[in-house]
Amino acid sequence: MLGIPNIIKLYFFVIWLISYEVKEFIHSKSFYKELGKKQRMRRKSVEDYLEVIYRLIDEKGYARIFDISAFLNVKPPSVTEMVQKLAKEGYVKYTRYQTITLTNKGREVAKNVYRRHKTLTEFLKILGVEEEIAEKDACEIEHSLHPKTVDRLTKFVEFVKNAPRDPRWLEHFRIYYETGKYPKCEKNEA
Ligand SMILES: [Zn+2]
Repeated sequence: MLGIPNIIKLYFFVIWLISYEVKEFIHSKSFYKELGKKQRMRRKSVEDYLEVIYRLIDEKGYARIFDISAFLNVKPPSVTEMVQKLAKEGYVKYTRYQTITLTNKGREVAKNVYRRHKTLTEFLKILGVEEEIAEKDACEIEHSLHPKTVDRLTKFVEFVKNAPRDPRWLEHFRIYYETGKYPKCEKNEA
């Protein structure tokens, strides 16, 4: 016969066993999450490189390891390694004169990222974020947005920038940001 103390011991053992299994399960789940994160990091870095190469070619007519290194603040040997990988995957062409060009596949990706970049930068600037910070943050966010979000943001930026007159509500937002108060609306104001 199991005495009361043994039943209690058994009870705690079962609880411990369940919590152990649960922990193991969560651990294996987070492992897969990590994998996903690694893939995301990889995508981010591919997109970052292609975007920079695209911008350099646009501004200077060419992209070189040294320029990319300066732009991304990454050491030249690491840039060379990444560029070689990108060449292997068919995104760029890397000649022995060290000039990097984009293939059609690379240009497509780069153009898309740069478009997202510009939209996000503009959006942040509309909110009143300083240009330098807006540029930097745009590069952080641009890789992980859903296309529907990008679409909305693009339309929003267009809506504000092409408005027939200066949107008053934006000015109201600026006042709200600075004072924490809603400005009084004049009559007939949109
Ligand atoms: Zn960017």
